[in-house]
Amino acid sequence: MNVHDKYKPLTWWDKTYIPLVIDGLSVTLRHFFRNIRLHILNVLGIKTKERGAVTYQYPEEMRPLWPRTRTLHRLMRREDGSPRCVACMMCETACPARCIYIVAEERPDVQIEKQPKIFNIDLGKCVFCGYCVEACPEDAIRMDTGIIDIASYTRNGMLLTKEQLLNIQPKVENYVARPDLVEGQPIY
Ligand code: SF4
Ligand code: SF4
Repeated sequence: MNVHDKYKPLTWWDKTYIPLVIDGLSVTLRHFFRNIRLHILNVLGIKTKERGAVTYQYPEEMRPLWPRTRTLHRLMRREDGSPRCVACMMCETACPARCIYIVAEERPDVQIEKQPKIFNIDLGKCVFCGYCVEACPEDAIRMDTGIIDIASYTRNGMLLTKEQLLNIQPKVENYVARPDLVEGQPIY
């Protein structure tokens, strides 16, 4: 089709919009019957090269997440349960949305200078870019919890504190299992 064809004046038949409605319905029906055919073959146990469209009944049914999907943040702990974070402020500096707020304090352990006294993330501002994870030299912050249903009726409800971030339980079952990933390794 010539690129200028779409600028042609509409005929009286075009102006009824009937051809466009027929075009649109034909696309819908083509997909409908294709999916019905593939799903029936699937129920009968006949393998096909193509897959029928699938509707996930979210939130009852979760669509498996690809392992690199960035989900809700969490702060990692050391073996003794203390935060792995050394309050270096790299994540706060890298964050383009300026939604990380850290106040450092001295750590009793002389080997490690600092730890966060306050570590807040305002999810209402977060753009889930993952820069905080990339910037962290200690692997202290990850976005691999598999939690995506994040909502609140208030702005304050979107503010996560250090304690909340340290106690988030990851839902790894929400991710697609990938045998090439090493157990316990961070996923960026
Ligand atoms: S994901 Fe991006 S926007 Fe969100 S806290 Fe991390 S750096 Fe900031
Ligand atoms: S989470 Fe990582 S980058 Fe952020 S302050 Fe702690 S150690 Fe530094």
